[in-house]
Amino acid sequence: MSTTRDYYEILGVSKDASETDIKKAYRKLAMKYHPDKNKDDGAEEKFKEISEAYAVLSDTEKRAQYDRFGHAGIDGRYSTEDIFRNADFGGFEDLGDILGSIFGGGFGGFGGFGGGGRRRQGPVRGSDLRYDLAVTLEQAAFGEQVKINVPRAENCETCGGTGAKEGTSPTTCPKCHGSGQMTHARRTPLGNFMTTTTCDDCHGRGQIIESPCPVCKGSGKQKKVRKLEVRVPKGADTGLRLKMTGEGEAGSPGAPPGDLYVVIHVKAHEKFDRIGDDIIYEVPITFSQAALGAEVKVPTLHGKVKMKIKEGTQTHSVLRLKGKGMPHLHGHGQGDQLVKVVVETPTNLNDKQRGLLEELDKLSGSKSSGSKGGKGFFNKVKDAFETAISDDAPGPVNS
Ligand SMILES: [Zn+2]
Ligand SMILES: [Zn+2]
Repeated sequence: MSTTRDYYEILGVSKDASETDIKKAYRKLAMKYHPDKNKDDGAEEKFKEISEAYAVLSDTEKRAQYDRFGHAGIDGRYSTEDIFRNADFGGFEDLGDILGSIFGGGFGGFGGFGGGGRRRQGPVRGSDLRYDLAVTLEQAAFGEQVKINVPRAENCETCGGTGAKEGTSPTTCPKCHGSGQMTHARRTPLGNFMTTTTCDDCHGRGQIIESPCPVCKGSGKQKKVRKLEVRVPKGADTGLRLKMTGEGEAGSPGAPPGDLYVVIHVKAHEKFDRIGDDIIYEVPITFSQAALGAEVKVPTLHGKVKMKIKEGTQTHSVLRLKGKGMPHLHGHGQGDQLVKVVVETPTNLNDKQRGLLEELDKLSGSKSSGSKGGKGFFNKVKDAFETAISDDAPGPVNS
């Protein structure tokens, strides 16, 4: 649905009405025309009209767009913007960007220099960019400043982004009078739509450049690879998105640049797995260590730690090293390291070892601890799960 009535008129407020005035006016009218309360013909239509006007005027940015460009900038478009907002990508202030993103193929200017589909002249904010950053588990654990190289469009240094040769300046396009677009009324079975097309004389710039800048060939932009530093926060995990305000692509002259979103990807680690803020580690121990108990050194992100294996520990027991995991991204403290003990069955026995094991087997009656009434060697071990250690375990040791 698309209205061509003036939004201020619809709400019955003046052009310089305050936010409060607009809200008040909207509430009053919404109460009056709400379809639940008002069954009159046309009330629902009216309610939609009021809501549309309010949606625009209550939003500082949209109101500014409307003040500057009228319905041309807004008509029928903010429903698409709502879709976009649901996609969790705030920060697109420019309606042209939103349209471009939805209809212009792909996700706005992400990953490219295109930024195509500009329909409107006037200061146009630069496109947002996305940069995918792979970090190691250690970098994610301890945080680090990481240098990245971001390819992006910047304003041409020679002409300052105007696209005109030094000493000259662009002139206003006579066809569109500088608006960069032509507006046409179009009748369709659904009603009248205002459509805007890009002015083909100036290609939407609103300006004609007679002598283009030789460096940027009149585009006003230059591709640059910009070195930036990103601070990867402690506890970062895959999918974390860091916003770097103003580090996106350059806008048109007088408009702000877009933002850069750095998306973190934590690389797989050769020793450790990660579940949330806990680190999972598997430690192999020998059959005798499991049976007799032992002290083993276990690597953690925070250095090596001595860990006590209780006598009679079963394979696949999980022991918890408190506070040896990843730092919590939000707030203090850190996760734990969970150590899974894997008992290795001895192989390639020599005669003596074989003899001793055979003797052991005879003494334990060939029964596993799981057998009913068995007098197995491991009988006394009931539950090795999360037994041992580590609140009082020794801290990191040097090795
Ligand atoms: Zn033009
Ligand atoms: Zn230039």
